[in-house]
Amino acid sequence: MRLINIHEYLMGRDQSYAADYTAEVAANAQRTVEHINAFLQAGGFDGHVNSGWRPPSVNGATKGAAPHSKHMQALACDLLDPGGLIDRWCLEHPEVLERIGLWQESPGSTPGWCHLQILPPVSGHRVFIP
Ligand SMILES: [Zn+2]
Repeated sequence: MRLINIHEYLMGRDQSYAADYTAEVAANAQRTVEHINAFLQAGGFDGHVNSGWRPPSVNGATKGAAPHSKHMQALACDLLDPGGLIDRWCLEHPEVLERIGLWQESPGSTPGWCHLQILPPVSGHRVFIP
């Protein structure tokens, strides 16, 4: 089991996009990392950030990124998940996501990674299609 840290989550963008790195983003990032680490501990997974905070300009340039992605407010994290094991475990343990307060993007839309966010999507569904 390996936890993630705030530096991995911010990907250096707190410095390269300092103007976008507001106090709100910083607080959200902290909460997201805490939620992800609680999840990693529950599942016993090694956590590696595939995509963390994305300032709006980065999100806009990211292929396939949702225009209103929660990554922009530092409310979402993509964990590296090449074999889909984390995604599958999430589907089998909705009670863990509920306890921690996480929502999962449908695995069919996230090949190679697992998208988790700390705010519910508009639909309110625990597993959602953006
Ligand atoms: Zn994502």
